[in-house]
Amino acid sequence: MLDKIVIANRGEIALRILRACREVGIKTVAAYSTADRSQKHVLLADETVCIGPPQSADSYLNMPAIISAAEVTDAVAIHPGYGFLSENADFAERVENSGFIFIGPRPETIRLMGDKVSAIRAMREAGVPTVPGSDGALGEDSDDHLRMAREIGYPVIIKAAGGGGGRGMRVVHSEATLLSAITVTRSEALAAFGNEAVYMEKYLERPRHIEFQVLADGQGLAVHLGERDCSMQRRHQKVIEEAPAPGITEEQRATVGGRCVEACLEIGYRGAGTFEFLYQDGEFFFIEMNTRVQVEHPITEMITGIDIVRAQLEIAAGLPLPYRQEDISLRGHAMECRINAEDAKTFMPCPGPIGQWHAPGGPGIRVDSHIYSGYEVPPYYDSMIGKLIAHGDSREAAIARMRTALAETVIEGIRTNIPLHLEIFSHAAFRAGGTDIHYLEKRLGL
Ligand code: ADP
Repeated sequence: MLDKIVIANRGEIALRILRACREVGIKTVAAYSTADRSQKHVLLADETVCIGPPQSADSYLNMPAIISAAEVTDAVAIHPGYGFLSENADFAERVENSGFIFIGPRPETIRLMGDKVSAIRAMREAGVPTVPGSDGALGEDSDDHLRMAREIGYPVIIKAAGGGGGRGMRVVHSEATLLSAITVTRSEALAAFGNEAVYMEKYLERPRHIEFQVLADGQGLAVHLGERDCSMQRRHQKVIEEAPAPGITEEQRATVGGRCVEACLEIGYRGAGTFEFLYQDGEFFFIEMNTRVQVEHPITEMITGIDIVRAQLEIAAGLPLPYRQEDISLRGHAMECRINAEDAKTFMPCPGPIGQWHAPGGPGIRVDSHIYSGYEVPPYYDSMIGKLIAHGDSREAAIARMRTALAETVIEGIRTNIPLHLEIFSHAAFRAGGTDIHYLEKRLGL
């Protein structure tokens, strides 16, 4: 196993990584910003290194500072968590060139999957179903674009190859606005991502977001851990996730999951990863791959019994995957609510000191959070302060447990989105399952 690693992240995921390390006897170094001195994982870590001031650009995105943290502490590897530098191929490369292990895929893989055009091409070649659309980036010929959109059928969506976080996309409903939409998306993409390549896809009008979790050891073994439904979103931000996805059959799971596994083997994937799909009218369409651990990984852990973060550590240590596809079985149903420090109605962030904090508990309840009474939520970062996870034998049982858990949670001093979660859990449509990605915004009148 690895001897000592640097945790280059903050919040609940930093604590989650620290806990996984403790279990397997890996020593931890918390690389933290000055705003995060009193973070729980910083207080618990074996060693700590301050990597800069509060602004992420100067700390959690500061590559030399993070690599120095590994150097001065004699760590052997760096875990990037999610967000920040987790999908930055240049960072992964610098980590490896400095003689450390990057806990994630090889830099080439991150680069391949980070460019959506090359990712889609690689997936198509590996037999993963993709959205009908252009074969690669759009060229310069306007007639070509018009012909292509007519063939695909309106509405279409123009997307930036380098886009991310729901930015760099434009839906086009008719021919009249196609060419101007391409021009505008191109210049926006160049300004925002430094890459003006754009591509065209059929715009699906009422899809669900369903994603498959994979683990690959980079030595010829890969498995999928089933799927998650993350359709409950606001502004492309996931609010509630569940696993398995309502209504997906064993056969669909085996087919699509199997394709993802084959794709992993084809591209020599290493580590944990997620294949994101849009799902509509019984069909899956690949949109992108995340080459890191996801916020919503716990729901998959709850139904498979597999510790995904521990698997990341083992893979990084060069150990072969200890299980085969036939060893993976799904048990029951799990849900996750992302708890944010924000107003439940206006969504305005609400940082500040936390007074009383009473975590929920009981059978099937898991709380992944770094907060404690007296902890102050800093204003500099994402507003997520934790995740509430509920597992039960059935979807109904998981929902009942989640509602009980939400209702007994006490977080004083700051506002949270718990009232929003309680409201969503009372909706008949959500309780029936299978709502599409526009459901929440429509329902909230946004
Ligand atoms: P990002 O990397 O910015 O998250 P994605 O490619 O994952 O970009 O797309 C983000 C979201 O945009 C999707 O979850 C979906 O809501 C919407 N979207 C993207 N492509 C399509 C499409 N072809 N049809 C309908 N909606 C789409």
